Amino acid sequence: MGAVTIRFIGDFDRHDCDLRVRCLNCDHAAIFGARELELYFRERKWNVALEVVGWHMRCSKCGRRGDVSIHGIERRHSVALPPRPRPDIKVPMGIDPRAWARATEAERRAMVRRAR
Ligand SMILES: [Zn+2]
Repeated sequence: MGAVTIRFIGDFDRHDCDLRVRCLNCDHAAIFGARELELYFRERKWNVALEVVGWHMRCSKCGRRGDVSIHGIERRHSVALPPRPRPDIKVPMGIDPRAWARATEAERRAMVRRAR
């Protein structure tokens, strides 16, 4: 892979990369699928420019928010992970966070109704 310009989450996907996000406070790292993460941000109308993506990230280990470094990792080296719930998603009581993370807005409304 030569010199490439990566400005947005989706740019990683075009280069067959995923994102390795490392907490600058405690060194905890996590890998996010570029496609899944891009979709996640777009659904929320969040800015997908890399310089601000970290603002929405919170470390699942030490809880520090927005203090991360982001690097591309070639997809063949990254484990195919299911999209995982991010720790800063507000999941209502009594609802499985993994199901919540995958659900659409309409499905979430139905889940909230069922949980009540
Ligand atoms: Zn941390």
